Amino acid sequence: MKYVSTRNNSEEYNFEQVFIKGLADDGGLYVPTSLKKYSPQELHELKKLNYNELSTEIINLFSSDFISKDELSTLVKKSYSTFREKEVVKLSNVGEIKLLELFHGPTLAFKDVAMQFIGNLYEYYLTKNNKKINIVVATSGDTGAAAIDAIKGKSNLNIFVLHPNNRISSVQRKIMTTVEEKNVFNIAIDGNFDDCQNIVKSMFSDLEFSKSINMSGVNSINWARIIAQAVYYFYSYFRLDKEIISFSVPTGNFGDVFAGYLAKQMGLPIDKLIVATNENDILHRAISKGDYVSKEVKETLSPSMDIQLASNFERLIYYVSNSDSSKTAEIMKKVKQNSYQIEKNNLDNIQKDFLSESCNEQETLEIIKKNYEENNIILDPHTAVGVGAVHKLSIHDCVVLSTAHPCKFPDAIKNAINKYEKLPDELQHILNKDENFQVLDNNVSKIKDFIKKKL
Ligand SMILES: *Cc1c(COP(=O)(O)O)cnc(C)c1O
Repeated sequence: MKYVSTRNNSEEYNFEQVFIKGLADDGGLYVPTSLKKYSPQELHELKKLNYNELSTEIINLFSSDFISKDELSTLVKKSYSTFREKEVVKLSNVGEIKLLELFHGPTLAFKDVAMQFIGNLYEYYLTKNNKKINIVVATSGDTGAAAIDAIKGKSNLNIFVLHPNNRISSVQRKIMTTVEEKNVFNIAIDGNFDDCQNIVKSMFSDLEFSKSINMSGVNSINWARIIAQAVYYFYSYFRLDKEIISFSVPTGNFGDVFAGYLAKQMGLPIDKLIVATNENDILHRAISKGDYVSKEVKETLSPSMDIQLASNFERLIYYVSNSDSSKTAEIMKKVKQNSYQIEKNNLDNIQKDFLSESCNEQETLEIIKKNYEENNIILDPHTAVGVGAVHKLSIHDCVVLSTAHPCKFPDAIKNAINKYEKLPDELQHILNKDENFQVLDNNVSKIKDFIKKKL
């Protein structure tokens, strides 16, 4: 499989470049030049596979020039052996709605599904090529935890995670900071998530620095993460006896819902993909009326979706612009100037596949409370936004992606139903363990010095 950048599709790349670099030099995102489209007959065959087999089958379409199918199968098995559910994900009911529980991995959020896999994929590649890299990542809570768990103790890899000091839940922080492996470094920045992200971006664009430490990233634009996430759309469709289904996806950086779009392009019978946002509703404004202008980031009960400009949205822009990379590059300039109104053509194309809704803080709390009282289920605040969107849009035959375990957001749950949700037994030990992290100023050169000193 060959790949191009969304901003210049005259040059082709292979999976290795796409996976290790993450972002193209021109600032664009990598997309494949063609996609396999499964026939109904082929889908019928895939239906027989278990989760690991299905993962191997789908990921292999994209990575066969990088890793053999047999080796991939071994990596997939190893990756998902860390999950508390044998079949990795689980379908459950909340009233009329189906929930696809994606939080049974080691750090209690859906990001484990892709991250456990790419942690092993990194190790495979680095060991084989005798290389070392340093991963640097900014997190609003869940990405960092998932990345640390995936990379801790692995050879040839170090990981530095920047989180905004005092702005993530204590459970989110402890999952990251109680890890003892020597290749893990937690940094708390005196600032917000955007500050953390800007520091990482500026380190990446300082080529002298980033090359000198062999810096790499694991953020949600990495194509390997998207393909690992496309798998559970297929898996859940196969487990439901419906001809066509819709998915509601609690959305921040547009990675998870883009994986659904990919599944649909590959022939999976998906009706609508619902982009569910919290009060940071730029994607709802964009998809419902074309307004892609960002505002200040608000802190909400669903912090992993407190994002304005969603990186992966660029991939959708590319596809709805009929894979025209110069047009995409032009649009991205307007996005950068914060003045992009989606053209009517593009908007019509987007609305063929997507719907959107937004839930405010009060609505989120009410959804958690109502479902606890009526269905005896505790939804995490991100999942609650996804459920709320389905109610507002009155969609039937819909699966809501349940992106986090409620115990990860104890304050929000306490606020909604006046009780705390317990951590799973496997994680109880983090509550009383010593934490290890360094608080640093919101200052790029101080962070660079810190990293250099640790290497
Ligand atoms: C990251 C995250 C999201 C948003 O996913 P994107 O791929 O960034 O859209 C939603 N819910 C939870 C719990 C998350 O950790």
